[in-house]
Formats: sequence, structure tokens, C-alpha cells
Amino acid sequence: MGLEPLMHSALEPIRASRQVPWRRLLGYLRPHRGKLAIALAALTISSAASLAFPMLIGQTIGNVLEQGNQTQLNRFTLLLVGLFGVMAVAGFVQIYFMGVIGERIVYDLRTGLYQRLLTLSLAYYSQHRVGELLSRLSNDVTLVRAMLTTNITTLLSSIISLVGSVVIVFTLNPGLTLFILLLVPALIGVAFLFGRPLERLAKRVQDQLAAATVTVEEGLSGIRTVKGFGREPFENQRYQGALTLTLTTALRLIAARAGFGSLMLLLGFGSLTAILWFGGRQVIAGTMSVGMMTSFLIYGFLIAAGMGNLAGLYAELRAATGAIARVFEIMDTEPTVVEAPDAQPMPPIEGRISFENVSFGYTSNLTPATADGDGLVLSDISLEIAPGEIVALVGPSGAGKTTLCNLIPRFYDPDQGHIRIDGIDLRTATEHSLRSQIGLVPQETLLFGGSVRENIRYGRLNATEEEIVAAAQAAYAHDFILALPQGYDTPVGERGTNLSGGQRQRVAIARAILKDPAILLLDEATSSLDNESERFVQAALERLMVDRTTLIIAHRLSTIQAAHRVVVMDRGRIVEVGSHDELLAQGGLYARLYLMQFAAEDSPPQREAADIWPEGDWAVVGWPWAQPAGS
Ligand code: ADP
Repeated sequence: MGLEPLMHSALEPIRASRQVPWRRLLGYLRPHRGKLAIALAALTISSAASLAFPMLIGQTIGNVLEQGNQTQLNRFTLLLVGLFGVMAVAGFVQIYFMGVIGERIVYDLRTGLYQRLLTLSLAYYSQHRVGELLSRLSNDVTLVRAMLTTNITTLLSSIISLVGSVVIVFTLNPGLTLFILLLVPALIGVAFLFGRPLERLAKRVQDQLAAATVTVEEGLSGIRTVKGFGREPFENQRYQGALTLTLTTALRLIAARAGFGSLMLLLGFGSLTAILWFGGRQVIAGTMSVGMMTSFLIYGFLIAAGMGNLAGLYAELRAATGAIARVFEIMDTEPTVVEAPDAQPMPPIEGRISFENVSFGYTSNLTPATADGDGLVLSDISLEIAPGEIVALVGPSGAGKTTLCNLIPRFYDPDQGHIRIDGIDLRTATEHSLRSQIGLVPQETLLFGGSVRENIRYGRLNATEEEIVAAAQAAYAHDFILALPQGYDTPVGERGTNLSGGQRQRVAIARAILKDPAILLLDEATSSLDNESERFVQAALERLMVDRTTLIIAHRLSTIQAAHRVVVMDRGRIVEVGSHDELLAQGGLYARLYLMQFAAEDSPPQREAADIWPEGDWAVVGWPWAQPAGS
């Protein structure tokens, strides 16, 4: 929660700590310690073998070739083949097991992150873009994997061969060792020179990649809007723009990496040349054999490579710091709506809902201390809804109707006041027991890309085929489903695009019927359906509402008239409550709105299917509810 602001924008520089949380990171290796032990044993064997081979080569050249001993040559050749065989087998074991561990860590990290993301409250999602989170799940996680597998392997094998070589060379020729160790300060210097820019550039690439992913995610999930407005070139440009930024930074990163790598290479080969010169003088002076000189050259190579690898690792570590920080940032974010430790399961709900002086604001919710008059979306709402009552919420767009509904399943907690269901404060009930008894039918139904059957079953995962069909029948969906090419098995397409708007709504209603909730929250669609669809949806909704406490954000006169009570909201407050007839008789705001809308009509109720808040007209008379509903 404290770190949330860090992720506001994908392009905002990450200010996360430079410190890599090692203990925590290594914790991901713990479940795989068996495999890790095998991999490390294999790594030790292959590193030790690689330490022996310069010695063997030296011996072969010195003792065997110079003396022309054929039998010895055969023996040494066999030994070398054996040694390389061991290295190959150990190498296989090490690479295989490290690879397996890497994949499992990615699996653990991704499932852990997704699990965490699913528990986070809706407030989190109004602040973070889905594409950005997707990028965390894919790009950053792979960096963390590299840190824990290939980098650890390189680290250990470099240390073994580096320390081993230094020790061996030192016992054989201390002067030469000191000569080689002169390299160390140069290597450290280069690592420091490149460390910071590498880290900065790598972080920027990850951030820009996240921004590019956001663009794709938005473009593709809104593909109908994109196409509807013919904005393909615009979206394409947006993505190209984002990717160009990434590319530019990535190219700079590559230049830095190439510079770093070639400097390392220069130092490595420089040291080899130095050994050749220094050792060569001893060979000429007759104090060292050619075989020994060869061994030294190869050890020198191992030492230079080991140092180069360590310096490279340092750079990689700097580069991965941001990714690691971001992954843990998500892991550490706490939901803003939390279940009380002593929360009790909600008993079967009868359906009495009471709002007691409830105030709420989206921003003030994050810092309750600052909650004041400003920024409140709901102010001092008190409302009592009886079990089985149907309440229509009406009012202009932005009045707070959706927000009011969102408080009932506890998507957000009120800043002030209490909400009770059957007298039980929502904060004292477990989330699952509460939400499992509430049905939601949103305005724009989101279907998941499976079959029609799977989409209905989403309401209750263990529903039988008969129950699914019964729900579809009750929602007037059965007949149209049977007429689909594959009946209940027909794929609905991504987000249900293969179905018409009215069909999608009826599938959503069937889903809610299957869930059989005691409390129903409906957001009536503002988009007009054709008459036929409209009638079916209306009939399905009426069936759905029977015997349930229903709160419906109503846009149609027929719905408002069918409700037991109408609650008129404006700017976060309840301004009038009563039945349609009572409100008309009261002659207040609702009545004025109604009359303005229907005065010209001979027989108002015939405008059933029309939206009762049809915009323009209010604007003409300067009424404050002039904003288009649903806008
Ligand atoms: P209605 O459903 O009556 O159209 P809403 O409840 O959707 O109204 O919105 C009420 C107010 O809250 C609006 O000013 C809207 O901009 C604001 N709002 C809605 N959702 C969010 C959110 N997730 N974060 C911040 N503000 C929001």
C-alpha cells in the first residue's frame, strides 16, 4: 500500500530500494533445495574438473611431448577424454536441474503474483493499468528467474574456478600470481564505471516495455471501439511510439553492454599476453618448462574469465534490481478492504440492507484521515431496504448510484457510517460468505471466452447440466442457445462478442439465477436493444428479482414503475424516496423531471422501452441532471 504510488505510471522512474532482498529472494529456492543440491554438486564437479585440465594439458606437453613418449601420450589422452566426459555429464546435470528450478520459480512467482493481484481491492485497479501488471507478471518475473538460476550458477562456478586457479598458480609460481592479481583493480573499476548506467538503462527498458504492453492491452481489449472509430492507424502509432522509446533505450543498453563486454575481453586477453611475456622470460631463462607455461596460460584464462564473469554478474544484478523490487512491491501490497481476523461467516441472508449515515470517497478512502467534505462521492446516506424489496436507484450520471451498489458486496469500505445486512455489519462478516450471497448483473455484461455453458456455470461452479438448462430457461435464454450452431457448447468469443447485446444480458441473468443470491444488484443497460430482445431481457429480469432484495440502477420507466420504491440520488445524496406514484404526487424533483420528459406524450407509460433520462431535453431546460446517463 505504501508503495502503490510508485506504480502510478509505467514511465515514472522506480524509486524502489537499491537493496536486493536476498533472504527473501533465496527463499524461492528453498522448496527446491533437493534439486539445488544436485545441481550444485554437479557444478562443483565440473568446476573442479575444469581446474584439473590445464594441469593435464601442461603435463602432456611438458613431460610427454618433449620426451616423445607414445605410451604416456595415449594415457594422458585417455585421461583427458575421461575428464571431459565427467565435465559433460556434470554440465548436463547442472544445466538440467538449474533449468527445472528456474521454470518452477517462474511458476511460483507468477501464481503467487496472480493470487495476490486477485485479492487486491478494486481501489488498486483504479490506480494500476492491467497491461502494466501483465508486464510485471511476464517480463520482470523472467529477470528474477535469471537472477536465481543462471546468475547463481555463474557466480558459484566463477568463484570456484577463480579461487582454485589462483591457489594453484600461487603454489606453483607466486610471482606470476601477484602479476595476475594486478588485474583486479582494473576489473573493479570497469564494473563500477558501467554498473550504474547499466542498472538505469535496464530499469528504463522494463518500464517502457510495461508502458508498451499497456498500449497493446488497451488497444486489443477495446478492439471494437478501435475499429468502430477506424482508429487502427492511431493505435498502431501509439504502440509504435511506445516501442520506439523502448527500442531507443534498449539500443543504448546494448551499447553499454557491448562496451562493458569488450573492455572485459580486453582486460582478459591483456592478462594472457602479460602471462605470456612474464612466463616466457622465465622459460627463456630456463627457470620454467614449456608445459608449465601452457598450464599457466590456461589458468590465466580461467582467472580472467572468472573475474570477467563476476563483473558481468554485478552489472546484471544492478540491472535486475528494479525488476525484483517491482515483483515484491506487488507481493507486499495489502488489500485496502481487509477481512477482520475474527470475521464470522454471514448466515443465510434474509435481505434487509441498512445504510446508516454512510459517507464515502474514492480518494479519501486511501487516506481516511483526510476524509472531509471534498472528494466525497456519497454523503451521509441513510437508507433501509426491506427483505424482498425492489428499489430503483435513479439520478444523473455521476450521482453515486454505482458507488452505492459497490459498497454492498464490500468492494470498498465506507469512510464513515455503517452498512448492515440483516443487522450484521459488513466489516464483521467474511468476504466470501457475503459475496456468495449477492448477485451482480452489470450494465455491460462481461462474458469469459468459453462456451455458453461455461459462462452460465460461472454462477455456481458445481451446477448440474439440468440446473444450467433450468437457469437458461428462466432467463429466456434456452431457446436462443439451442439455435446457436453448437447449442450450449457454442463459444461466446472473446468477451462474448459472438452474441448479441440482448443475448449476453440473458446469459448474465441465467448466471445470476444459477447463483440464486438473496441480494441482487442490477445495473440496467442504457444501450437500447431491439424490441424483441428488450421484452425478453425485461421478462428475465422480472423473474430474477422475485423474492430477492433488489437494488437496480434504473434507466427505464417500466423498471421504475415496477419497483416498490424509487430512490432519487443527486451529487452523492439521496434527495427523494418513494414509489413512482408517491413521488409524482409529491410534486418534487422526480415529478418535475418526469413531467418535463413526458408532458408532451399522450400516454406516458407507452414510452416503456425509452430511457427515462434521455439527456438533451434536460439540457434544454437547464436542469442539473443534464449529463447523458451512462456517459
Ligand atoms: P453513477 O453510477 O451515478 O453514474 P458513480 O457511482 O459511477 O455514479 O460515480 C460517482 C462519482 O465517483 C463520479 O464522480 C465518478 O467520477 C467517481 N468515481 C467512480 N468510480 C471511481 C473510481 N474507481 N475512482 C475514483 N472515482 C470514481
